[in-house]
Amino acid sequence: MGSAARTTCPAPRPVIVGTGIAGLWTAWRLASEGVPSVVVTKGSLTESASAWAQGGIAAALGPGDSPGRHAADTLAAADGLADPEAVRILTQEGPARVLDLLDLGATFDRNPDGRLGLALEAAHSRPRILHAGGDRTGAAVIGCLARWVGAHPAVEIMEQTEVSRLMVASGRVTGVHLLSGDGARLSLPASAVVLATGGIGQLFAVTTNPPVATADGWSLAHGAGAQLRDIEFLQFHPTALKLRGVNPAPLISEAVRGAGAVLVDRAGRRFALALDPRGELAPRDVVARAVAAADAGGGAWLDARRVDAMSQRFPGITAMLLRCGLDPARDLLPVAPAMHYAMGGIVTDLQGRTDVPGLWAVGEAARTGAHGANRLASNSLLEGLVFADRAGRSLARLLGGRVDRIGASPCPGVPDHASDAGCEGIRQEMRAVMTANVGVERTEVSLTEAEAALQRLARATPPDAWRTRNQIGVAGLIAAAARRRRESRGGHWRTDFPRRVLREVI
Ligand SMILES: Cc1cc2nc3c(=O)[nH]c(=O)nc-3n(C[C@H](O)[C@H](O)[C@H](O)COP(=O)(O)OP(=O)(O)OC[C@H]3O[C@@H](n4cnc5c(N)ncnc54)[C@H](O)[C@@H]3O)c2cc1C
Repeated sequence: MGSAARTTCPAPRPVIVGTGIAGLWTAWRLASEGVPSVVVTKGSLTESASAWAQGGIAAALGPGDSPGRHAADTLAAADGLADPEAVRILTQEGPARVLDLLDLGATFDRNPDGRLGLALEAAHSRPRILHAGGDRTGAAVIGCLARWVGAHPAVEIMEQTEVSRLMVASGRVTGVHLLSGDGARLSLPASAVVLATGGIGQLFAVTTNPPVATADGWSLAHGAGAQLRDIEFLQFHPTALKLRGVNPAPLISEAVRGAGAVLVDRAGRRFALALDPRGELAPRDVVARAVAAADAGGGAWLDARRVDAMSQRFPGITAMLLRCGLDPARDLLPVAPAMHYAMGGIVTDLQGRTDVPGLWAVGEAARTGAHGANRLASNSLLEGLVFADRAGRSLARLLGGRVDRIGASPCPGVPDHASDAGCEGIRQEMRAVMTANVGVERTEVSLTEAEAALQRLARATPPDAWRTRNQIGVAGLIAAAARRRRESRGGHWRTDFPRRVLREVI
C-alpha cells in the first residue's frame, strides 16, 4: 500500500477533497494533531450527502447493546463479503468517535430522562441509531464540524473549487489540478491527497444523492491507477418519494418505517411481509425489490398514518411532504426505489491508504471492506468518522510537523468549465441507461445493453468534455463489474443468476 513518504525536508500540506463527514473529520483530526491541511470542495462547505442524512448514526451505546452485536448485524447485512477486521474496527471505535462528536458540541436527541435517544432501523437487532433534530442528523453534525474546521487556523478551505485531475509523477500522487468557480485554473502540490468525494448517485436518473455526487473520486483514483472494488454493489433506497422528473428524489427515511409506517400496494395489501418475515424492516435490498415489484404492478405507497407524532419526530420529512402537497397524517405516500449508496469504491487499507503512493480515500468513496455487499442502515456516517479518524492519525504520524504552506499556482493546462457545456443531453441519457439497466434488478441482457449504450455515448462525447467523459467512464466500469458477477448477493440482484455462489467470482 502506498503512503505519504516520511521526509526530513518540509513537505507540502495534505489536500483533502470534499467536505462531507469524512473530509471534515480528516481535516479536524489532522489539525488536532498539529498538521495543517488544505480542504477543497466543489460546492459550499456544507453541501454534501452528509448534510442530508436523516436517520442518524449507528453506534453501540444503548443498554444491552455491544460492538459485538453491532458487528454481527453489520456482517449479516454484508452478505458474506465484508472484511471482519474492518467491521470490528467500525463497531468498536464507533462509540468513541460519537463521544468525540458530543465533546465537540454536536447535540443528539435525548429521552425525557436525559439519556441519548436511540432509534431502530432495518436489520439492526437493537435500537442504536443516534439522531438529531428528529430527522436532521446530517445537518446538525455537519453544522458542528463545519464550524470547528472553518474556524481552525491550521485548515485552509477552498470552496466552489473542483479537483479535475490528480498530479502524478513517477507513480506517486503529488497534488491536484483545480478549477475554481471564477474560472481560475490552478495546480496545488500535496504531500498526500485524501479523496473524500462521497457517492456516485448522480450517474443514475433516480437518486437520493445531491448534485455534487458525480463519482469524481472513483474517476480520479482510477485515472491514477488505484484499484476499485465491489463497485457493482449499490444500495437502492426503498422509499424515495416518487415524483416524476425530480432530481434528487426526496427521501423518506427508514426510521419512519422503524416508527411503524407500512408499505402497501394499489390494493392496499401490505406486501413486504410476503418476502421476508421482518417485513418493512428487512434489509434494504429485499425491501427495495419488493417496492420495485409493487411499483411495476401499479404502485407502492408508504402508509405513515399510524406513526405517532410524525411531525415532531420527523419534522424535516413532514415539511418536505407538505411542500409536495402530501399530508402524512392523511395521505398515502407514493414511493419507489432510488440509487442511494455505493458499498464499494477505491480500495484502501484500514488506515485509508490506497495502492497508489500519496493517495488516500475515506468515506463513501472508499472501499474499506466494512460494508461488503450491503450496508447496514446508518453505518455510513459512522464509517466516515471512524476511518477518517484513522487516516488523519496515520497521515499525521507520517508527516509529523514538517509541513510547508505552499499555495496553489496558475496552471493554464487545466481543463475549464466550458468544455462540458452542451453535454447535458448525453449525461441525461447515461443516467437513464443506468437506472433502466443497472438498477435494482439486472440481467446479462440489460448489462450488455448498458455497456453498449455507454460506449456509444462515450463516442458521442467531445474529447475535452472531461466531466461527462469521467462520469460515463465510471458508469461503464460499474456495468462491467455487474455483468462479471454472475450471482445475486446484497445490493447486486441478477434475475438470471438469482443464487449466491459460495466462492468469489471476480
Ligand atoms: C438523502 C440521504 C440520506 C442519508 N441518510 C443517512 C443516514 O441517516 N445515516 C447514514 O449513516 N448515512 C446516510 N446517508 C448516506 C451518507 O449520508 C453518506 O454515505 C455519507 O454522508 C458520505 O459522506 P462522505 O463524507 O463520504 O461524502 P459526502 O458527504 O457526499 O461529501 C462529498 C464531498 O465531496 C465533494 N466533492 C465531490 N467531488 C469533488 C471534486 N471533484 N472536487 C472537489 N470536491 C468534490 C462534494 O462537494 C462534497 O463536499 C444518506 C444519504 C443521502 C443521500
